[in-house]
Amino acid sequence: MAQITILGAGVSGLTTGILLREAGYQVRILARELPAQTVSAVAAAIWFPYEAEPVEMANRWSAASYLVFQELAGLPGTGVSMVDFLVLSAEGQDDSWKEGLPKGAVRQASAEELPPGFNLGYLARVPLAETPVYLPYLQARFLRSGGELAIREVLEVDSLLQQGHTVVNCTGLGARQLFSDDSLYPIRGQVLRAAKKEGVRSMVFSGVKGQLAYIIVRSTDIVLGGTDYSHDYRLEHSEEDTRLILQRCRALDAAIDTPTVLGAAVGLRPKRPAIRCEREAGRNVIHNYGHGGAGYTVSWGCAQEVLHLMQARR
Ligand SMILES: Cc1cc2nc3c(=O)[nH]c(=O)nc-3n(C[C@H](O)[C@H](O)[C@H](O)COP(=O)(O)OP(=O)(O)OC[C@H]3O[C@@H](n4cnc5c(N)ncnc54)[C@H](O)[C@@H]3O)c2cc1C
Repeated sequence: MAQITILGAGVSGLTTGILLREAGYQVRILARELPAQTVSAVAAAIWFPYEAEPVEMANRWSAASYLVFQELAGLPGTGVSMVDFLVLSAEGQDDSWKEGLPKGAVRQASAEELPPGFNLGYLARVPLAETPVYLPYLQARFLRSGGELAIREVLEVDSLLQQGHTVVNCTGLGARQLFSDDSLYPIRGQVLRAAKKEGVRSMVFSGVKGQLAYIIVRSTDIVLGGTDYSHDYRLEHSEEDTRLILQRCRALDAAIDTPTVLGAAVGLRPKRPAIRCEREAGRNVIHNYGHGGAGYTVSWGCAQEVLHLMQARR
């Protein structure tokens, strides 16, 4: 059975590692950072294909992931649950994400369900992965299945290939340097964690660049977002962004009012014109990166694609 080295221990690397290992491959993950230090740990991690292209493929991978998350939501200790999510829409916005949902999981919201200023929205039942539980769950499942995980920054892949390993690249934004991918760039996202409040609903508006706003109610807190600054590498959170996030979230749901902010975090979404989930021509490398703002949403679908690519090689 082939020896596989996965690079990266974010949601992409861990999910891919689980599927490959559970299919019987020998798998180890090498990662510069452990899951808790990755972009994946910053995400709100709700099912929604945001900033993921091409749209048709992203919807397909999202649909496949939905089914897996739905199963995980029924299991204790995964951190996954099914939640109501109001997706607000703007004139001309692509709403084809709905095609990734099973029948009956989404309907048009009534006028009374919409915040002031919005004419169109959809109420969807979607998976939410609470990252402080879900990432450790993924890591534990991978290790339990016999996978190995080591902290190591990889500076070139040829030596791994010379040892006969298949390399699976799940390095997110790291692929820009490691695989000289100039088409990959960050979309900087800031989020706030706030204390729970009664009556607050989970919702998103992503229809206008520069006005991204979302509220995600989790079991012990609320995640408020966001920002969508392309090509911005700054990792520090800013007071100005905190102010803008609170302002935009208040406009979505007045119940937010003046929340108790517990913390702020920044993550760089790995965006590319098209998610790269393919075998590299001429080298024994399979890529799985560039998932933008939808790394969780497409995670199981993309991992299944990697598994198919491995099996097609046998
Ligand atoms: C604010 C914010 C909110 C988000 N909300 C959502 C959401 O609600 N739903 C959703 O689906 N997605 C969301 N996302 C997007 C999602 O977080 C990303 O798409 C996803 O985390 C990408 O995962 P990844 O595993 O590919 O990359 P990362 O999580 O960045 O992991 C990359 C891994 O590769 C390793 N690595 C990099 N370079 C090297 C190297 N040279 N050698 C070894 N290891 C290396 C890193 O150390 C890390 O372990 C959000 C993102 C942000 C920032």
